[in-house]
Amino acid sequence: MSILFLIDDKHVPLYRVMWVAATPHFCGSDECQHEGDYEIRLEQGEVVWANRKERDDLLAALEAWAGGMEESDHEEWE
Ligand SMILES: [Zn+2]
Repeated sequence: MSILFLIDDKHVPLYRVMWVAATPHFCGSDECQHEGDYEIRLEQGEVVWANRKERDDLLAALEAWAGGMEESDHEEWE
């Protein structure tokens, strides 16, 4: 499984994701380009924007990735 995830034409390493918005962005600004998109916050204050499907796929990828790390931890302990 790849640790890179494609969001908004950017390959983002999963370990750089700090948090993922639970609700779509809304700020009311006329100039906002990201109304209805989901904010993905990366290390160092960088932000990428995902549509709903990308957001859901990213959450699934993060869970699979974290789950895989737990399993390899167990192998080291045993
Ligand atoms: Zn906005």
